[in-house]
Amino acid sequence: VADDCVFCRIVAGTAPASVVYRDETVLAFLDIRPMTPGHTLVVPVRHAAALADLDPVTGGPLFAAGQRLAAALRWSSLRCAGVNFFLADGVAAGQEVFHVHLHVLPRYPGDGLRVKAAFGTPSRADLDRTATAVRDGLAAAARADG
Ligand SMILES: [Zn+2]
Repeated sequence: VADDCVFCRIVAGTAPASVVYRDETVLAFLDIRPMTPGHTLVVPVRHAAALADLDPVTGGPLFAAGQRLAAALRWSSLRCAGVNFFLADGVAAGQEVFHVHLHVLPRYPGDGLRVKAAFGTPSRADLDRTATAVRDGLAAAARADG
């Protein structure tokens, strides 16, 4: 537990949150600045600042909880015609709380949220070059893990 981490304090019960789900691995609670009503955050119980710090075995339960919450939102009385998952890893990605969290966002027509591609439609050659860079990154990450 990181004392200066608000999500660890929520997990510990020493900071307020509107909790919707909890088990031994994950906790889910409402975002205090919702993009749409029902905007939920799923966090690992054990502190991990970034994806690189998250035990890979925790990724599965984190996503599974997101799936259950997506279903719950669709079955709830809230407006929810669709769901987005969003996870910001790093400042450049918009991460503001440095304890991994998966956003579960209820969506409905006219909610005003936009996810916009800024890079047009690359050629297959461009995609293949980018795929090579990603594959090289996988190899480098595997070497870094030892
Ligand atoms: Zn934390």
